[in-house]
Amino acid sequence: MEDIRREALRWALTNALEHEGRASAKAVLGKLVAKLPGWRSKINELSALVEQVVAEVNELPREEQLFRLRKVGSVERPKPEERRGLPELSDVEKYPMVITRFAPNPNGPLHIGHVRAALLSHEYARRYKGKFILRFEDTNPENALLEMYELIRRDLRWLGMSWDEEYAQSDRIELYYNCAEQLLREGKAYVCTCPIETFRGLRDWGKPCPCRELSSEEQLHRWRRMLAGETTKGEAVVRIKTDLNHPNPAVRDWPALRVTTKPHPRVGERYSVWPLYNFSVTIDDHEMGITHVIRGKEHEVNEQRQRTLFEHLGWQYPTAVQYGRLNMAGVALSKTQTMRGVRSGELTGYDDVRLGTIAALRRRGFVPEAIKQLILDIGLTLVDASLSWETLYAYNRKFADERANRYFFVPDPAKILVRGAPDLKQARLRLHPGHPEHGERILPLAREDDALMFYLAGEDAGALQEGQTFRLKDLMNVTLSSKGRVLEAEFQGLELADVRKIQWVSAGAVEVEVIRPDNSRKLGLAEPAVAGLKVDTIVQFERYGFVRVDTARPKLTVVYGHR
Ligand code: GLU
Repeated sequence: MEDIRREALRWALTNALEHEGRASAKAVLGKLVAKLPGWRSKINELSALVEQVVAEVNELPREEQLFRLRKVGSVERPKPEERRGLPELSDVEKYPMVITRFAPNPNGPLHIGHVRAALLSHEYARRYKGKFILRFEDTNPENALLEMYELIRRDLRWLGMSWDEEYAQSDRIELYYNCAEQLLREGKAYVCTCPIETFRGLRDWGKPCPCRELSSEEQLHRWRRMLAGETTKGEAVVRIKTDLNHPNPAVRDWPALRVTTKPHPRVGERYSVWPLYNFSVTIDDHEMGITHVIRGKEHEVNEQRQRTLFEHLGWQYPTAVQYGRLNMAGVALSKTQTMRGVRSGELTGYDDVRLGTIAALRRRGFVPEAIKQLILDIGLTLVDASLSWETLYAYNRKFADERANRYFFVPDPAKILVRGAPDLKQARLRLHPGHPEHGERILPLAREDDALMFYLAGEDAGALQEGQTFRLKDLMNVTLSSKGRVLEAEFQGLELADVRKIQWVSAGAVEVEVIRPDNSRKLGLAEPAVAGLKVDTIVQFERYGFVRVDTARPKLTVVYGHR
């Protein structure tokens, strides 16, 4: 029956992935009957099973369906939808070497959406034996934060990335100035001193503002005044000339450099004229020889602006590779919200467990390989992808399950005395059921009042009925005799029985605090072997979930990941 179920699951997942996530029970049943003609006589049984499997599959998000299909193995008929891995990059033959970049603004921590750009750009650079560049786009002194540079590097390294070159745009200001001056001299840019409303009013009608028509001598004069600090913020901006009838008014004569006197966290007060994103990104993408710009489609309008500047300068625009948005259900991914929460103390830090930042995922015990695999599986799809925690859990489970050692943990402990049991001193259990080489753990047993004493999880204890037989997992079967403040039970036997299995702790239990995904705390007791665990270790508390050790001293605190 398990085999049939597996086969049904395989077809249901395949069918769902071919039909926007929804499998048809009829189609799946048809496939199964064709494959297993012997089942024709038991069609009702088979149909009930298929319906159940299809209902389960249709509840799953697409990534989880893909993930499970990989686990059960696809049907013999491979579909394009199941093809894994990234497509080839176009235009590779046009360039001597593929050069990609990740260009974060160090104004906040990276989250899962940002690392998509990083992982894809890195992956392609490595695939084509090219070059991957890390470039901090820190030309806004008003929001660049010194601590972010290292935090971002750390996240990238943690995800297994390495970069061949690193730049900070705040080191390259003269380069942008030179370019600006050239454009002003050649009449391809101008210094606009109009109030912004006046400028917009004209621009929206495709009309030039008075500054646009001034001579290049006047433009250079104004530019020097900007550089000399003779204009204040908002008084003057350098604009790039574009087609004033461009269908999107936001592209028309876009701003390229502006005045701001706020000290920069890296270079202090050295500059008071700063390039805006679209200007510095264009110059750098060209100067650094970027061949493939891989980024989200939210940059579409920016790309149109940048192309106008490439044309002015007579440069060839790199090959643009776009992908859709990535939303994470129930997670605030916005940098602004995160920064506000951290500043106000509402969040505990950039790694607050409620966040979708890489730091938070790391803290919750996500394995970097799982995040990488998930992002590469989502790939370059242009449709917006919605990522659920469940999908992340499914990916992570695959890696964590293999590695994490098992321990018993009982939240909200309830005491139980077991009478009539043999005089056992300890239990020896495997650290990992599938990996004997991980070794064993020892759970010493305590005696009290001539009985063996254990703690059970409060919830398990509450659900037990008097007279019910259950198994203290991997140890013995007992029958609950009374359910007072301290529970009492009678020993039944040691051999494995088909009864409810409950984890337990006994002598030497260690107090553990669990930080839950909503940042609430839960207390419990774990078996003594957890005392030696080091910070960052990921373990599984059996029947409870994967956790990562957050602090070992003075108290053992773990962060809950997922089941
Ligand atoms: N600094 C930009 C960002 O973080 C880079 C985008 C790009 O040009 O690819 O969104």
